[in-house]
Amino acid sequence: MDKVKVLEQYLPPDAAPLIGRWIDYFKCEFKISRNRGTKFGDYRPPFDGRGHRISVNYDLNAYAFLVTTVHEFAHLHTWNEHQHKVKPHGPEWKGNFKKMMQPFFEKNIFPPDVHHAITRYLNNPAASSCSDLNLYRSLRKYDPPKESVTTVEKLPMKALFKLKDGRVFRKEEQLRKRFKCVEVKSRRVYLFSPVAEVELVEAH
Ligand SMILES: [Zn+2]
Repeated sequence: MDKVKVLEQYLPPDAAPLIGRWIDYFKCEFKISRNRGTKFGDYRPPFDGRGHRISVNYDLNAYAFLVTTVHEFAHLHTWNEHQHKVKPHGPEWKGNFKKMMQPFFEKNIFPPDVHHAITRYLNNPAASSCSDLNLYRSLRKYDPPKESVTTVEKLPMKALFKLKDGRVFRKEEQLRKRFKCVEVKSRRVYLFSPVAEVELVEAH
């Protein structure tokens, strides 16, 4: 199937032709990957006879898929310019990320709140990777709703929630960014990211 047609299933359709051109121009092996839990995408520089490789998780919503794709292409571009001489998320990468986002801003691909969160992220020198919470939250809003799956920050205090492995926790107070939660069975305390995906068992 035509590359752009495939990309249109994952990206905002107006963004697909340009990503298709980047794949050709940079001679990049682009793979749509299974969900890897801890990361949205991945870039590997040329190695051992293979060229640039980028992979992006298949289950991201179209805006998150695009932001992740541009994030990884900025790694590729930075590698072409500097190879290993600069940090992965240093100012060189960030400058390229900013530059490579522009055509999508010009096409008005993003809803205003996402556009705003990306601009804020690009202008914040401290924000480096895709784990930026504000950006992540605004992208997450466009995920299709999943039944009873929510995030720790959205649960009411003292709510009981369940992880995929079946363990049940009770939400307690917030400590700086993270939430203290107690595993009901062992009474052990764990710290959860506000955006950790959990299943609500019972609200108090
Ligand atoms: Zn990165």
